[in-house]
Amino acid sequence: MSTVLLALGSNLGDRRANLRAALAALEEAGVTVTRTSFAWETPPVPADQPPFLNAAAAAETSLVPPALLAALKRIEWALGRRPARRWGPRPIDLDILFYDGLRLDTPDLTIPHPRIAERAFVLAPLSEVWDAPLPVFGEPALALLARVGLQGARRVGPI
Ligand code: ATP
Ligand code: CA
Ligand code: CA
Repeated sequence: MSTVLLALGSNLGDRRANLRAALAALEEAGVTVTRTSFAWETPPVPADQPPFLNAAAAAETSLVPPALLAALKRIEWALGRRPARRWGPRPIDLDILFYDGLRLDTPDLTIPHPRIAERAFVLAPLSEVWDAPLPVFGEPALALLARVGLQGARRVGPI
């Protein structure tokens, strides 16, 4: 089994229901969620779209990284996500932040996710599911978050 850290985001439809449905679908796909963060409301980037509800999850899986990515994309599709502009509004976005201590850089998949350290909307929920130093970075999410600030992210309650 491998330990993975995942980022979840939604800014279309019933955002909390979308996050919950994604977590349930992960279990069905062979990804056992061990910890989930609170839901965080975060300003959208770019700003011309509704605010996001973001969360993070720690999980165990025997899926190898490409199979995990395929499972995440299947779940996104099942929850109504269709191809659209990059960084546009979407009912659900599921990203692989870390996969054990693996470093991977292929056209389809980069691990750790390349934009973790600059994003409060990732770091704030991540700090709630993983307080130890992060793989590869060697620092806890809170230390990285302290550097970039909250960027308007606020914790709104349980998922
Ligand atoms: P960002 O990557 O900046 O968070 P995004 O999540 O909006 O942007 P998407 O359109 O959801 O980007 O995904 C684009 C592609 O990124 C996916 O099809 C996938 O192949 C690739 N990708 C690369 N690394 C990862 C990763 N660690 N987790 C999820 N997708 C990844
Ligand atoms: Ca993303
Ligand atoms: Ca994504």
